[in-house]
Amino acid sequence: MPMALLSATSPAKTLFCHEEQYPAQSGLLLSVPQSRKQRARARLVAAMRPAGAAATETASTAAASSSGGTKGKPRVLVAGGGIGGLVLALAARRKGYDVTVFERDISAVRGEGQYRGPIQIQSNALAALEAIDMSVAEEVMREGCVTGDRINGLVDGISGSWYIKFDTFTPAADRGLPVTRVISRMTLQQILARAVGDDAIMNDCHVVDFTDDGNKVTAILEDGRKFEGDLLVGADGIWSKVRKSLFGETDASYSEYTCYTGIADFVPPDIDTVGYRVFLGHKQYFVSSDVGGGKMQWYAFHKEPAGGTDPENGKKKRLLEIFSGWCDNVIDLLNATEEEAILRRDIYDRPPTINWGKGRVTLLGDSVHAMQPNLGQGGCMAIEDGYQLAVELEKAWEESVKSRTPVDVISSLRSYEKERKLRVAIIHGLARMAAIMATTYRPYLGVGLGPLSFLTKLRIPHPGRVGGRFFIKVGMPLMLSWILGGNSSKLEGRPLSCRLSDKRQATSLVDGFRMTMHWNKLWVESGTSSL
Ligand SMILES: Cc1cc2nc3c(=O)[nH]c(=O)nc-3n(C[C@H](O)[C@H](O)[C@H](O)COP(=O)(O)OP(=O)(O)OC[C@H]3O[C@@H](n4cnc5c(N)ncnc54)[C@H](O)[C@@H]3O)c2cc1C
Repeated sequence: MPMALLSATSPAKTLFCHEEQYPAQSGLLLSVPQSRKQRARARLVAAMRPAGAAATETASTAAASSSGGTKGKPRVLVAGGGIGGLVLALAARRKGYDVTVFERDISAVRGEGQYRGPIQIQSNALAALEAIDMSVAEEVMREGCVTGDRINGLVDGISGSWYIKFDTFTPAADRGLPVTRVISRMTLQQILARAVGDDAIMNDCHVVDFTDDGNKVTAILEDGRKFEGDLLVGADGIWSKVRKSLFGETDASYSEYTCYTGIADFVPPDIDTVGYRVFLGHKQYFVSSDVGGGKMQWYAFHKEPAGGTDPENGKKKRLLEIFSGWCDNVIDLLNATEEEAILRRDIYDRPPTINWGKGRVTLLGDSVHAMQPNLGQGGCMAIEDGYQLAVELEKAWEESVKSRTPVDVISSLRSYEKERKLRVAIIHGLARMAAIMATTYRPYLGVGLGPLSFLTKLRIPHPGRVGGRFFIKVGMPLMLSWILGGNSSKLEGRPLSCRLSDKRQATSLVDGFRMTMHWNKLWVESGTSSL
């Protein structure tokens, strides 16, 4: 059964895997299931040819590159076919490695399928994708909705007035990086899966354990099958089994926030100038983002214990109560959202640890550094991880060719971990800080003061709000510049381009900066804000 190509403009209706005959393995199958039922469980993701010629080219490029790994290169086993696992698989295959991705259920994408909605892929991750495979990056960018060339920022949830505006365009353009996009998760997964190639992805394969004998690693599936490779990467998400086998059971940390998400057919009047807004409140906040095609995605965060549930058809009603008295931008979006399009989840993260792996096994993405979604960087970090791991493997391979010695897989995994740890830990911390800021935000004197809460009626700005604004204004450009551009010097083989060159002339005014794009050049000059 073919799958439909999903896009941000046409929300996911069809899940993107189908059953095929028993696959040829790139990892070495040690034990074969006996029953037909077991054989039927072995499915491939078969990425259907897209309608467009460019995407067909991507598929054929993948097939060409995957048709033969370079003899002697290490065999890579990847547990988990989410964003991180697929990007690693793509990066490794493009360098000629044999890769097998074991995915528990690729149609579910961490259990939430189509409702998981769009994801922001920021300049840093788009640049990493460009360095891995330019045609894949092009496709992601074509399918995405550009938000990075508009105003994004923080807003007071009650009044709707701007607190801080972010300029995410300048840090990207300054370093020649693509501008941030939002894309449907399912579309992104499809593009990646198709490029990786269906012969490398095994669906319905739940990795539950592994053994590492020092020379080889063996991935063990729930149904008893075993696959041998030279290294195993646990890209199996926040509840990673590989992580558990490596370091034992550890609890993820509850952020103290539950999060409702939804998508609405809604076009705000300022859509041309505003990409996303974070509406701040006390112990609750709300995020809205244009996702293209006349749709808006929103996230509503509320501080409360984990495990809460809503009665049937009760989510929208509850949200309208929680956000009662907030500005029209929030209420209009909630009203425009169908109850069935609202999903609720508690937000957990995993503080990155000092050890990411042992021997021939390492971790990547959420399995080792799941972060709160406040910066929209969790998936972007998984993409950067995938790029770096493939680079480190290739370095080890080149060294082995030079020295005529076996590839030092173990050292290459430790080098990857070393390269990634600091950046990921800082971004993880910043994502937590953003939540703390939202928790402590008090727009007016009296908010959160119990018996003195009547003071809020006077609408006297809270001193914390005024002081906080000063620090954010000074710190935010530095932080954004580092998050978006801080990894760019490590990327090899991509042209410096911010990817808005098709817009021959685009001018916008953001908080005193005039940005003029003209014939592929960008000038940033002082100017007056018109917003
Ligand atoms: C509300 C919210 C909004 C977010 N918004 C953004 C955003 O805008 N931008 C951004 O960059 N990030 C965002 N994130 C974070 C992002 O979703 C994650 O960081 C990203 O999905 C991590 O990718 P991953 O591949 O490491 O893990 P996952 O996406 O969790 O993928 C893991 C995969 O492994 C599979 N799997 C699990 N266990 C096994 C097993 N034992 N064997 C085989 N397969 C297994 C799963 O089915 C899944 O497909 C957001 C997160 C949330 C919660």
